[in-house]
Amino acid sequence: MSGNSLTRRPQYGEHDQVTALTVSGLTYHFGAKTALKDVSFSIPEGRFCALLGPNGAGKSTLFSLLTGLLVSKAGTITLNGHDMRRSPRSALGDLGVVFQQTTLDLDLTVTQNLTYFAALHGISGRAAAKRIDDVLDRMSMRERAHEKTRALNGGHKRRVEIARALLHQPKVMLLDEPTVGLDAPARAAITDHVHSLCGNGDLTVLWATHLTDEVRMSDDLIILDRGTVLLHDLAGQIAGTRPLNGVFLDMIGASS
Ligand code: ADP
Ligand code: MG
Repeated sequence: MSGNSLTRRPQYGEHDQVTALTVSGLTYHFGAKTALKDVSFSIPEGRFCALLGPNGAGKSTLFSLLTGLLVSKAGTITLNGHDMRRSPRSALGDLGVVFQQTTLDLDLTVTQNLTYFAALHGISGRAAAKRIDDVLDRMSMRERAHEKTRALNGGHKRRVEIARALLHQPKVMLLDEPTVGLDAPARAAITDHVHSLCGNGDLTVLWATHLTDEVRMSDDLIILDRGTVLLHDLAGQIAGTRPLNGVFLDMIGASS
């Protein structure tokens, strides 16, 4: 029985069916090593979807494929209706990304980092200043705008990266283990913030993690292990009456 045969489509309300991200039959090999095997899922617009898997599950490989850093010979990726292979520019234009490693220039202020990135997207002058204010507000970072990035704590650096990923008003945001290395309060604050970004329905989030306490019961949840989707459903459905962590550990233990 393949992993995908265990995948049920989450049941959403009638108005929640426009698809923001669809992955179909995605397989990827590093030489002889299979990192992803026939991965398929679909996330409706405006949802927060947690991609939960232990180290080595294939989360970062999936993100590399979604961002075009790696190209798979097998499978398709559709972002906001754009096929990644046929229309990569349109697909990538709708995407905001926060990678596992921080990529801010520590010698620049927060605003300088954001201004530079806005310019890369062709946004400058007053329009850029307005967007920067908006995204810093969304991440509760406006009062840090003129601080040197190096002086920020880890949680605030992460918030700047998330603000930066929002600058070009993406439809879909990918975050690869964005809380790694943060203390518990900063981790909780970032997790809350990004959940609230999804609140008004126009942003879809795919959040990779190996920590079940970052998942809300109302989130979509994809459990990935050894390159295979074990389950995709609403987190509350997967957990049932048990703590999600126990269910997750049983599931990845059961596949060993
Ligand atoms: P995760 O992000 O879930 O921890 P990865 O996508 O980084 O998982 O890795 C999935 C699998 O692919 C692992 O077994 C890992 O060792 C392997 N892998 C990842 N990157 C490479 C690479 N550049 N070369 C060879 N194997 C790799
Ligand atoms: Mg990873």
